[in-house]
Amino acid sequence: MTPLPPTPAVDIALIGVGAAGALVFINLVQHSAHPRRVALIDTAAEPALGVAYSTPHPEHLLNVRADCMGALAGQPRHFFDWLHTPAGLAARTALNLSIPLTENAFLPRRLYGAYLRYLYSDARQTALKKGWQLVEHRDNVTNLTPTENGHTLPLESGATLTAVDTVLALGNALSRPDSAALPHVYTKPWQADIARLSAEPPAAHPVVLIGAGLTAMDMLLSLQRHQWPHGIVLVSRHGALPHGHLPDARMVSTPLLAFEDVAGKRLSAVLQQLRRVVRAGHPWQHALDSIRPYTARLWQSLSAKDQQRLLGKYFNLWGTHRHRLGAPPADSINELLRSGQVQTRKAAYKKTEISAAGQLNVYLSDSDAPLYASAVFDCRGLGLSPRAHPLLARLTESGTLHAHESGAGIRPLHDFLLHQNGASRVFGIGSMLVGAYFESIAMPELRTQAQQIAQALLGVGAAEYLDTTLDYTI
Ligand SMILES: Cc1cc2nc3c(=O)[nH]c(=O)nc-3n(C[C@H](O)[C@H](O)[C@H](O)COP(=O)(O)OP(=O)(O)OC[C@H]3O[C@@H](n4cnc5c(N)ncnc54)[C@H](O)[C@@H]3O)c2cc1C
Repeated sequence: MTPLPPTPAVDIALIGVGAAGALVFINLVQHSAHPRRVALIDTAAEPALGVAYSTPHPEHLLNVRADCMGALAGQPRHFFDWLHTPAGLAARTALNLSIPLTENAFLPRRLYGAYLRYLYSDARQTALKKGWQLVEHRDNVTNLTPTENGHTLPLESGATLTAVDTVLALGNALSRPDSAALPHVYTKPWQADIARLSAEPPAAHPVVLIGAGLTAMDMLLSLQRHQWPHGIVLVSRHGALPHGHLPDARMVSTPLLAFEDVAGKRLSAVLQQLRRVVRAGHPWQHALDSIRPYTARLWQSLSAKDQQRLLGKYFNLWGTHRHRLGAPPADSINELLRSGQVQTRKAAYKKTEISAAGQLNVYLSDSDAPLYASAVFDCRGLGLSPRAHPLLARLTESGTLHAHESGAGIRPLHDFLLHQNGASRVFGIGSMLVGAYFESIAMPELRTQAQQIAQALLGVGAAEYLDTTLDYTI
């Protein structure tokens, strides 16, 4: 007799319950007419925070203005409005918020974490009251194997789950194993105890920051706050630092460039149009912000060659202009640069080693001699290739998922559907879709993606992603 196929244990498995996974769950609870069986799996101790919003440091700020950070699709002001509810007020009081609460403020990310945690706990309680079965695992999903009526998900602990549908909400691949085990080498920089490091420097050498993006800016702000007594070396291949928002961080009131002005053009023509707007006297920040509502469509209208040029030659340039710092932290960083404490070194990082005498030596491409370091922070951030995340690497190797032809992330079958096996599906959200949509990292994208994925899972008729009016702002 043929054995029966295993009965799926859950309807939906969410792999990764950081910011994006939490949003998918919240949308499922909001939109489902019936109780569901959902598995929520994450290696992190606390759900809903992920990498960006678990930082305990008050100087680590959002880089999007408060009234654009709503977590729910179509409601960009939701976060700002929540801050005025009793729960929001309690969170502000608990965190002793010192920044004036205005629409265009850049607020602490830990306050945003409190907001996400609140929404997630609320959705969780609602789900339990309505009879949902929630299976929660603090574990690492190591593989996903399609079966006859779902997916098998082996966990690092040795347990195995089965699910009909699965959502991959894995976030940015940040951990890099090469020198992670060395003392004072931080591959998860936000977890470093910078107060202690500054009070008891392991040596009189500089702190070395590998990378010069927003993570490195976070570390600069923390080193400044805790009065790190020695030098700081910022290592970056391109040597450019993120720009700041305009002091009043206004939003563009009228679009400066219509989609029709740039759609279907070569990358060089798009850049020319942006320069034309700036030459006409508009701040470059407004020129970039005005293509934001349709960046995904614009990206898709570029040729494969131009997409690769943008991801290769121009990606850092795009990053430093598009992912901007709030004006106050940008001022603090400029002050630090002027003080001479920070040295920027244009070079590629090779490796870190520890000498027999216990000295941390950092090797860079511009010299054979090591750079002596007190501590090393790996701030290289987003890994665009699917190979950067162990689970995506495994799933692209097995042919379950396909790498995007641009080299960035995964190629969806359509919208957010990555794999389909009969009635069971695998969806993806967030940075793994950079190749498909280019802008697929920040909350304004994630809130819309989360709603659409939840509606697709529930079969409640999501509109096509690119046809909806997206509520993007900055
Ligand atoms: C430092 C920083 C600051 C940012 N600031 C802003 C901002 O101000 N505004 C903005 O809009 N956006 C910001 N972003 C963008 C940010 O990436 C998103 O807003 C959001 O946090 C991404 O959510 P995510 O769920 O994709 O990733 P995460 O929130 O990081 O969640 C991914 C989760 O998946 C889990 N996971 C991964 N692999 C597995 C596995 N195999 N098994 C189990 N669990 C797994 C991880 O443990 C993690 O909890 C920032 C990003 C960073 C890194």
